[in-house]
Amino acid sequence: MQSILVIEDEERIASLIRRVLEENGFMVTVAESGIRGREYILSNHFDLVVSDIILPGINGVELCREIKKIKPHLPVIMLTALGTTDDKVEGLDAGSDDYLVKPFEIKEFIARINSLLRRYQLLTATDHTRISTLTYDSVEINLDIKTVRREGKEIKLTPKEFNLLEYLMRNPERVLSRAEIAANVWDTHFDTGTNFIDVYINYLRNKIDKNFETKLIHTRTGMGFILNRDEN
Ligand code: CA
Repeated sequence: MQSILVIEDEERIASLIRRVLEENGFMVTVAESGIRGREYILSNHFDLVVSDIILPGINGVELCREIKKIKPHLPVIMLTALGTTDDKVEGLDAGSDDYLVKPFEIKEFIARINSLLRRYQLLTATDHTRISTLTYDSVEINLDIKTVRREGKEIKLTPKEFNLLEYLMRNPERVLSRAEIAANVWDTHFDTGTNFIDVYINYLRNKIDKNFETKLIHTRTGMGFILNRDEN
């Protein structure tokens, strides 16, 4: 099921949009402000964002600019009640993918969403063969140039830390034993007398998780480690 974040401060409109999207088979999360919307985006996976332009706190245009910096492959549709040309230009400048003027036709709304989702699926499929990036939550690693970013900020890793992170990101939300990690990352058999994997996991935590609210790397006592955004 595809998941859509709706950022809309007017409760009546938000619940109308939620109903329409749910009827069309989407999973819906509503954020009542731009700030809340940003928090959701940083800590959850969404396939698409629908955002009003006029919002309390951070407005839809600024928010869209941030989203496109942090998650360039997350499609955004902007909504506005104003419908002036300026608004449209500003929204598209900020990197939004589409634009609808309220009140809009439900059929048109759903058609635009489906077409954007299709377009992005094709785009990410092509990108993966071309630039080979791995993404989990707000972490993105580029396998060609060996860079790591979280929330858009570059994080410097040693080659071993990078390989360990890559292995975790290729196997997200799965408990990985120390033996599996040793075999796949260090190309060696795990010797129970050493704790080098724990040491490297701690190095990685200090760089990837320490300064961020959502912790991704978790220890499962007696079993190993798991990359999971839902264990906070
Ligand atoms: Ca509004």
